[in-house]
Amino acid sequence: MSNQAGKIPFVDIQTQYQNLKSEMDAAIQRVMTRGDFVLGDDLTQFEREFAAYCGVSHCMGVADGGNAIQVALRALNIGPGDEVLVPTHTFIASPLGVWQAGATPVLVDVDPRYYTIDPVAAARAVTPKTKAILPVHLYGQPADMDPLLDLAKKHGLVVVEDAAQAHGAEYKGRRCGSLGDAASFSFYPGKNLGAYGDGGGITTARADVAENIRIFRNYGQHPKNVHPTKGINSRLDTMQAAVLRVKLAHLDGWNAKRREAAARYHALLKGAPIGLPEAAPWSTAVWHLYVIQVSDRAAVQKALDDVGAAHGIHYPTPIHLQPAFADLGKGPGSFPVSEALAHRILSLPIFPEITEEQQVRVANAVRKAVGA
Ligand SMILES: *Cc1c(COP(=O)(O)O)cnc(C)c1O
Repeated sequence: MSNQAGKIPFVDIQTQYQNLKSEMDAAIQRVMTRGDFVLGDDLTQFEREFAAYCGVSHCMGVADGGNAIQVALRALNIGPGDEVLVPTHTFIASPLGVWQAGATPVLVDVDPRYYTIDPVAAARAVTPKTKAILPVHLYGQPADMDPLLDLAKKHGLVVVEDAAQAHGAEYKGRRCGSLGDAASFSFYPGKNLGAYGDGGGITTARADVAENIRIFRNYGQHPKNVHPTKGINSRLDTMQAAVLRVKLAHLDGWNAKRREAAARYHALLKGAPIGLPEAAPWSTAVWHLYVIQVSDRAAVQKALDDVGAAHGIHYPTPIHLQPAFADLGKGPGSFPVSEALAHRILSLPIFPEITEEQQVRVANAVRKAVGA
């Protein structure tokens, strides 16, 4: 029976569009009619609205979330010769953004319970060359910012949040995107706030940093035809900003639905021999991903395949074991927590539109596979 009930996707962007269709079509039409496709009106409006949403005064739309990291670091004068602390358990865009800024990523292990950068390990990794920390609010859960901000203060470091998975998440009542010197966001379609294509943004409370970013993302131009600095082209399309404005109005509702779905998985899976994700005491998480830990992952993957449920691994290989970062010289055994997690983690489908029936089907398949 359960197989006939239809496939369970990992995210459901089509259903979301159908629910927004009239609003969304009108927004896109508006941009086409106006024709201000680059640095247009909806971009300015979106930047204002998203900054306010995050509780800061500035937001700059950029090409994507990886670019956002690079541009934010450059705007804070981080570059060649500088070291930036980054968790090794993250998406590769985090350390790549550091490398694209010309700086050196210095990898740090994560907390085994919350999956975010371990502040004690970060403190141990500081050298005289350390200039910044890039905590990642992984899976929609804020990193433990207070000890990291203390560490930054002690050593004169800047803090850039990688908030690509944490739109709307809160740390001790304050929104991600407002916790450091700047924050990078991704608006990749599958993120909690996603465009219809690539997109990214940077938030900051600092006017000087905002000004640097506005100039740098637009070929280093200010004013027209004057280039005080060598910049790049990294602009969020007006069309994508219009899409994001429509979606931003729904973000809190969607995040609430994700929290309900996470609580339901927790209730359905409790008592089984499975590591369940915990919301940290400091956090209002937004559950970009729901990541469990199991010892026989292949068996659980097969059971999910059998009921037509999508699943993923975020991420199967820690950064230090990726060939692209072999030059960092950190072999197996360098970061035991992240390496152990990489073998055990499994992401279950979670998205605002997921139904109770779908979650029950997923949970039953998981429980059966682990013999619970
Ligand atoms: C998605 C993501 C990025 C990169 O975003 P893109 O828009 O795909 O470039 C960076 N960091 C993390 C943690 C992400 O999940």
